[in-house]
Amino acid sequence: MTIKHSLVVPCYNEEGNVEKFLLQVKEAMLGYTDDYEIIFVNDGSSDSTPMKLRELFNQNKDVKIKVVNFSRNFGKEAAMYAGFTQAVGEYITVIDADLQQDPKYAVEMGRILDENPDCDMVAAYQSERKEGKLISKLKKTFYKLIDKFSDVDFISDASDFRTMRNNVVRTILSLPEYRRFSKGIFSWIGYNTVSIPYDVKQRESGETKWGFKKLLKYAFEGILAYTNLPLKIP
Ligand code: UDP
Ligand code: MG
Repeated sequence: MTIKHSLVVPCYNEEGNVEKFLLQVKEAMLGYTDDYEIIFVNDGSSDSTPMKLRELFNQNKDVKIKVVNFSRNFGKEAAMYAGFTQAVGEYITVIDADLQQDPKYAVEMGRILDENPDCDMVAAYQSERKEGKLISKLKKTFYKLIDKFSDVDFISDASDFRTMRNNVVRTILSLPEYRRFSKGIFSWIGYNTVSIPYDVKQRESGETKWGFKKLLKYAFEGILAYTNLPLKIP
């Protein structure tokens, strides 16, 4: 069975956000479609996220909800991949659970796909970064570097927040990478992509899961996978 729109939502310790997130999705989808599903991927949370998700599943029969539970924390990349395997939508959006990315943009991206048959994917980029100056500068420098040394084009402010046609997601699923670096995969696969700005909000509850060390590790994954820079270092 196919449906119009799937939302894939990686969740790691998001007990304070998932219920509000669901409400915001319902509101945003009003007037667009009721033919949508939400796939929450609980990435080994140690708080009450899995219980909250079970409650949402049991209490909201008006929305198609799927919950995938990981046996431990595998990271957002793995959570997105698992979500894609379960998504049956004609369009598939990746969106965070912490309400930094307003679900209204998922609808905006859906409408762009509706109106532009030649467009395969709509990516949302942060119109203005609202993180610390140092982290923001480091991220920009990283993207410049990786863009310079890679054959793949990296857009510095592109996030994972995007909506793809189902065939794009099938292509992503056909890549058997083990250490996944989605920002690379999304550009490497090609396809006709439109970018729209979005206004990033403050995290609703809880803290970012990306400490400096985790970000650095992720950056190395990208450099190793998408450039031959390490081979050139004497
Ligand atoms: N996330 C996840 N697994 C992780 C880390 C994060 O599923 O190991 C989820 C998290 O719950 C959120 C999204 O990925 O929905 C983005 O994470 P976060 O908000 O911490 O990142 P930031 O917005 O600070 O870049
Ligand atoms: Mg966040």
